[in-house]
Amino acid sequence: MPDQSTPSTPQHPATGPGSVAARLTVVRDRIAAAAVAAGRDPGDVRLLVATKTQPPQAVLEALAAGVDLIGENRVQELVAKAPAVADRLAAGTLEVHMIGHLQRNKINQVLATATGLETLDSLDLAQAISDRCVRDGRTGDRALDVMVQVNVTGEESKSGIAPDDAGALATSVAALPGLRLTGFMTIGAHLDSSAEHRVRAGFARLRAVRDEVLASSAPGTESAGELSMGMTGDLELAIAEGATIVRVGTAVFGPRGTVPAPVRRE
Ligand SMILES: *Cc1c(COP(=O)(O)O)cnc(C)c1O
Repeated sequence: MPDQSTPSTPQHPATGPGSVAARLTVVRDRIAAAAVAAGRDPGDVRLLVATKTQPPQAVLEALAAGVDLIGENRVQELVAKAPAVADRLAAGTLEVHMIGHLQRNKINQVLATATGLETLDSLDLAQAISDRCVRDGRTGDRALDVMVQVNVTGEESKSGIAPDDAGALATSVAALPGLRLTGFMTIGAHLDSSAEHRVRAGFARLRAVRDEVLASSAPGTESAGELSMGMTGDLELAIAEGATIVRVGTAVFGPRGTVPAPVRRE
């Protein structure tokens, strides 16, 4: 009979092939190789581990293997996993980004548990978050890190502001006292159904938006250098186009939605 006092069984072996640590090594090697191939410094590309649907135990394995930036898609999951990472957050050795669409009625929960938001796509939302930050005394150094999410593919199903409108939104966001604009985020065209050059063109478009905003020298835009783009399937293409953050889930944890095999006890 299983010992009820033992913590739930990890989904992956703790060490060896197939472990989160081993998979992370492969991902870091991919990032470094892509950076070198693009003539870039591998240290200029940060890994964000996308933890959606993963249990706290898997997240802790990633942190133990050196991960210092994670991203959640849903506020509910962000809040549920907050206790597991509270120590690291308090110590200032972990950043947690919200990388999914945020509804206005969940702003308080995000501010309580995340260090950054990558999915800002309207001035309305930005204003509401900034107002809340100001009320909480979070301005200057304590302002919330935000990125403007841009829909570079024009697909209806994807959130994000249109590339043509992104610069104006970014400039307005950068001027809000409760927010610190750190850059731009996008989800690339689906690589399976698009040619590589089309995926790359989307990433290049995000870079062009960023470069234009940086060149504007508008107040608050000087910190907006980040490009969060590239996932498991297309991180090499994103790094070739200048990604400074790649968001990776599947390559770290394996495919989502698979029920872990039952553990055999001899
Ligand atoms: C799930 C997700 C990722 C990671 O995708 P993988 O293909 O699993 O690496 C990155 N960004 C966002 C916004 C996501 O929702």
